[in-house]
Amino acid sequence: MSGYKVLISEQQIQKRIAELGAEISQKLKSSSDKPLVVIGVLKGSFIFLADLVRKISTPLEIDFVEASSYGAGTTSSGEVKLTRDIKIPIAGRDVILVEDIVDTGHTISFLTQHLAAHKPRSISVASLLFKPARQIKEVKIDFLGFTIDDYFVIGYGLDLNNKFREIKEVVIYEPSK
Ligand code: 5GP
Repeated sequence: MSGYKVLISEQQIQKRIAELGAEISQKLKSSSDKPLVVIGVLKGSFIFLADLVRKISTPLEIDFVEASSYGAGTTSSGEVKLTRDIKIPIAGRDVILVEDIVDTGHTISFLTQHLAAHKPRSISVASLLFKPARQIKEVKIDFLGFTIDDYFVIGYGLDLNNKFREIKEVVIYEPSK
């Protein structure tokens, strides 16, 4: 039987997100004529983004990108492809790219470069999780939820073959033995 073990509880997640929201609101104050642009990386970030934006107290707009990486199973390769681009203009605006997890760093590095070509005023990265053990690309995470050990985690938006995103906690997936 497969099972899972809670790594980060709902309460811990919500507490950290409230802190991140306050930090973002303070560092990236925007005005209603130039709102902050919060860009979620589909699909894994959708729950984190939904909770995070409700803790940010500065005007903002929301958009999404989707990227897929070539590679087998649960490991991302260096080759990342954009499968959905932003729809709102970001030139001259402060942008936050919101990820569920930074693992090798390939995805966030590719997306940051892609968005930079749109000439925003600034790009920051917010990620719920960071797994330093598997990092290949150097990436700067400006707003980080939690650093975790090298587990495959699911829940709170993170999936295994598109399932388990609705689990309320971040849990360690334990395949059947
Ligand atoms: P990177 O390009 O940084 O290697 O990978 C980022 C993407 O890999 C994440 O957005 C996520 O989709 C996937 N990923 C990496 N580690 C995990 C993990 O532990 N669990 C899940 N569900 N996805 C992961």
